[in-house]
Amino acid sequence: DLGIDRPDAVTVAARPALPQPGPASHKYTRGMVAIVAGAMEGAARLAAVAALRSGAGYVALYGGSGQGGPDAIVHRPYEPEALADERIGAILIGPGLGRDDEARAHLQALIEADTHRLVIDGDALHLLDPDALRRRHNPVVLTPHAGEFHALFGTPDGSLLDRARTAAARAGVIVVLKGPTTIVADAARVRIHLAGNPWLSTAGTGDVLAGTIAAQLAHPHADPMAAADAGVWLHARAAWIAGKSFIADDLANALTPARAGA
Ligand code: AMP
Ligand code: MG
Repeated sequence: DLGIDRPDAVTVAARPALPQPGPASHKYTRGMVAIVAGAMEGAARLAAVAALRSGAGYVALYGGSGQGGPDAIVHRPYEPEALADERIGAILIGPGLGRDDEARAHLQALIEADTHRLVIDGDALHLLDPDALRRRHNPVVLTPHAGEFHALFGTPDGSLLDRARTAAARAGVIVVLKGPTTIVADAARVRIHLAGNPWLSTAGTGDVLAGTIAAQLAHPHADPMAAADAGVWLHARAAWIAGKSFIADDLANALTPARAGA
């Protein structure tokens, strides 16, 4: 007995079926990810490396200086018109974004434009009105840790599983509630990910997760819930490959062997 409202809705996550490139693939068919860079550009770069190593064919950072990181990451100035690019499969906003008025304006513009799938993480979760997401047509994935979840949704009744599902239903989104056990929920389904690794408790691993999920979500035809699940699974697998006392850069690099096994 899990002590929850809807035990029939809960499953334990298993190895995902991930898309494989074929002879007709090119970088855009593998999925293009756009990441909005902010005050702490390193966080966006970690997410960008993670997105490339977990399957995206093209990753562009919008804004920031463009200094540092692999040359495979494309840098573009931040302009709302550039983000209207229809080749973009998913946009990530939040890692290292900062919480000033400019950050708030960027987030609001993306939510209201409703042109793309979004992953909202980190600082952007602190600027977000979850009820503003209900009007959107394109799917949204939120990736809060417990503190960010509480700031967004307060403490709804019920178990952690019920809370994740209630929050997802209220905002009309997919919630990835991060922790030692990570929970992925939409309004109807809850998935429990048990494969986490305590060495993930180090700076930047959440940014790596956000980029990993964005890459899965950017793939053409991706089912959003399956994409969130696949991202959490790959991230956990990369942590086991990275071993002990790794840093977030190592974790992002370990996504290549993690992805090769899936
Ligand atoms: P953040 O809180 O945004 O830095 O993200 C941290 C990431 O590391 C999330 O994916 C968490 O699920 C994971 N994580 C942090 N601490 C632990 C832990 N003790 N055991 C397993 N996973 C963890
Ligand atoms: Mg974080």
